[in-house]
This record gives sequence, C-alpha cells and structure tokens, in this order.
Amino acid sequence: MAMPTGVVVFTRDLRVHDHPALAAAIREHKSIVPLFVFDDAVANAKFRPANRAAFLIDSLADLDVSLQSRGAKLAVRKGNWADQVLAVAKESKASAIHLTEDVSGFALRRLAELRALAVEFEISVVTHPGVMVISPGDVLPTGGDHFKVFTPYYRKWIELPWRPVLRAPKEITALEGIDPGTLPSIKEISPGPLSPNRIMGGESIGRKVFSSWRTSHLSKYDETRNDLPGDETSHLSAYLHFGCISPLEIATASIGRDGADAWVRQLCWRDFYHQVLAARPDASWADFKHRGDHWIDDPAALQAWKEGRTGFPVVDAGMRQLLDEGFMHNRTRMIVASFLTKDLGIDWRHGARHFLEWLTDGDIANNNLNWQWTAGTGTDTNPNRIFNPTVQGQRFDPKGEYVRRYVNELASIPDGSLHTLGPLERAALGYPDPIVDHHEAIAEYRLRRA
Ligand SMILES: Cc1cc2nc3c(=O)[nH]c(=O)nc-3n(C[C@H](O)[C@H](O)[C@H](O)COP(=O)(O)OP(=O)(O)OC[C@H]3O[C@@H](n4cnc5c(N)ncnc54)[C@H](O)[C@@H]3O)c2cc1C
Repeated sequence: MAMPTGVVVFTRDLRVHDHPALAAAIREHKSIVPLFVFDDAVANAKFRPANRAAFLIDSLADLDVSLQSRGAKLAVRKGNWADQVLAVAKESKASAIHLTEDVSGFALRRLAELRALAVEFEISVVTHPGVMVISPGDVLPTGGDHFKVFTPYYRKWIELPWRPVLRAPKEITALEGIDPGTLPSIKEISPGPLSPNRIMGGESIGRKVFSSWRTSHLSKYDETRNDLPGDETSHLSAYLHFGCISPLEIATASIGRDGADAWVRQLCWRDFYHQVLAARPDASWADFKHRGDHWIDDPAALQAWKEGRTGFPVVDAGMRQLLDEGFMHNRTRMIVASFLTKDLGIDWRHGARHFLEWLTDGDIANNNLNWQWTAGTGTDTNPNRIFNPTVQGQRFDPKGEYVRRYVNELASIPDGSLHTLGPLERAALGYPDPIVDHHEAIAEYRLRRA
C-alpha cells in the first residue's frame, strides 16, 4: 500500500530522467513534494562562484518546468538545510524524505544532521544512487575501503553490472497546498563576477548537448581529446556536476559505440575520484600523500598566473579561457596546474581555490584530486610529472589558434611562432616576458623536492 507523502530533496541531481530518488518516491507514496533548499552554509561559504550560481538557477528553473509538465511544482526554501528539509517534511506530514547519496564531507555532515532531526518525528531518510555510475561502496578492493590506483579500479568498474537506467516519470501526483517559494536571483546568492561566455545550465540543454555531441564527436574522441583549438570534448562536466544528466545514463547510451571506450574511461575517472573522496574526505584540502613539498609564497606570480600574464602563451590562454568561459580544456588544466606547482612552486591549494571560484564544473572531488594528481601529492604513481609549457603549446596548439582565441596581444601572430617569441617582439606587442625560466625553475623544484 502506498504511504502518505514523500519529500524528494534535490541536491546536485537536477533532472527527472534516471533519478532513483524521484522514482522511488513516486512508486512508494500517494503524493510527493519536490524540494530544493538554498543552504545557508553554502551561501556563507568562502566560495560563492557566480558561474556556478547562475548555472544552478538555470538548472532549477528548467527542473521546475519539467516537474510542472508532469504535475508537480518545485518547492524552494532558504536557510539551514536540515532544518528546512525537516520543516517541509513536517508541513506535508511526510513519512519519508528521499534524496541522492553524495560523497563529500559537507554532504555527509548535512545528511547526518537531517537524520538526527528526522528520527524524532519518525520520518525516515532514504538515500539513493545517482551521482556516480557506480556508488563508492559497490567497487571495493579486496580488504580495503577504496582504490588508490586508477587502473585496477577501472578494470573492476567496467566489469561490474550497472543498474538499469530509469525513465523520466510520465506523471507526478503532488501534494497540494505547499508554499512553492521563489527562486532567488543570481546576485542574491552570489555577488561575484560572471564569465561573459558562460554556458547555460539545465537538464534540457544538457541532454541536447550530449545527444548531438555523441552523434558528431564521440567516435573521434580518442584522437581529438587533446587538440586545443578543436576543443571537441563533450563539455558535459558542469551538467554532470549538477546532475542535469545522469552519468550512468550517458555511459550506458555510449558504451559499445565507436570511440566510446576512451570517453567512458573519463567518466570512470570521475567515479574514481568520488570514491577516493568518499573514503578520504580530508583529501579535499590535505595532501592525499604528503611528499615533503616546500611551497613558495609569491603573491605577484600567483596573481600573474590568475590573470593569464605569465608570458607563456598556452598558460595565459588557458587562464583567460577560464575567466572568459568558466571552463578550461582538460589539456590546459594540466598545463597550467603543472606550471603553478612546478615552475612557480606555489601550493596546489591556491590553484584549486582559484579554479573553484571560476569553473562552472568546479567540483571538490574532480578539481582538488586532479590538482593533487598534477602537483604530485595525489593518487598518481608518478608524482614527478612535469609539463614544459612551451613544448605543450607547440604540440597541442601547433598553429597557435587556441592561443590567439584568448590572448589578444598575440592575435596578429599568424602561426605557431607565437609560442617562442623573443623579448623585442613581446615588447612591441605589449605581451610580458616569461615570469620564470622553465629549466631553471624545474631544477629548483627538483632540489626542493629532494
Ligand atoms: C587541475 C584540474 C582541475 C580539474 N577540475 C575539474 C573540476 O572542477 N570539475 C570537473 O568536472 N573536472 C575537472 N577536471 C577534469 C577535466 O579537466 C574536466 O572534467 C574536463 O576538462 C571537462 O570537459 P568535458 O566535459 O568536455 O570532458 P570530456 O573529455 O568530455 O569527459 C567527459 C566527462 O568525464 C569526466 N572527466 C574527464 N576527465 C576527467 C578527469 N581527469 N578527472 C575526473 N573526471 C574527468 C568529466 O565529468 C567530463 O565531463 C580537472 C582537471 C585538472 C587537470
């Protein structure tokens, strides 16, 4: 027999397709209340990136349209997350609260707080999968609580059966009489600057991006993924971060197609880092493996890096792409992160923070653990990986097209010679000299590490 009302709390699962928590609530309850709470803890946090705030508002507006077309309106609240969820559950006399399980220390603390409050009112709190292709506890090494190395994780991950993809509900019976609240404006939740060329959020757009990219680009993914000017990767990361699309659904819809193996492997990297964070929440900001680094305090160099004024064209192009679009190509993310931590010797945490301030896909697991991978403090078995920024530019942007797109000062240099300009040409163009000598900087880095 169906139970009275169930509350479905959306977090970073802003979709109606393949949504196990929503599907379970519809199956088990006579009526439901879909809810999103703007958490004061997020609003008061150090990071209030406008690009992610804007993407979130877009995504909630789109979710509301999808829910309304099925018979339910999204209720919106603001305040302490657990208190607000409980208040709506009590107001709707709900017997259960359904939500998608997540991995960060922050998400787990919030969930524990909610459970502690709900138990007193005999309201059950039920979590469901949906953030990852396979939940952390379902892929474990023998005798351990998480995989520390990617390849054995991938081997196990790709062989395990995946749960079936769930269709979007056709109809939803909503509980009547709940105040819907209103979506805040972007400025109300984040006063910071927006990237002029940011992408729009929402499940509807995310699904369109995926299906057209799968048709036109998936088969060539392995050949084109490092091509900076082509920029032909899926650009789905923000939709994945906010759960506008289900990683399981897109992996299932791709596997077996030409080119899909290399791409699905990237989705596995996402799961890999999420399971590391689930087991080691401290690794968000502490070294996963401390290797005795002595970081350099150099605010001027850090600022030049942030503004894309290092004098290394590919580094500057990547950093300016970040400010302009709230996105950066994966290849340049690796180059600029290596440059900050190895050439400038600056602590990876400064870089991770700046990325989180601007990236629309900014994600504590993917961002901070990739930063650690590049800095050599993470799960990587090769902690001394070094990228030469000039060689990387010549190799992945040989004609300089990517650099010209973002570095206006170099727009008149018609070819790849822009990677190796001399001091006179730079002065004439108003483009800075390199702020370090790469080879000397790396020799010093090696000494510091030794
Ligand atoms: C220093 C650094 C910081 C990063 N910060 C983030 C971040 O905050 N958020 C984020 O989603 N990704 C981050 N990445 C990983 C990667 O750069 C982006 O996921 C990717 O560039 C997004 O573009 P795409 O969606 O076109 O990727 P595609 O190449 O199309 O890949 C598909 C999806 O796989 C996942 N993926 C791809 N590469 C990785 C990877 N190396 N690690 C984990 N997941 C991956 C992403 O969800 C991505 O959307 C970072 C990488 C580095 C080196």
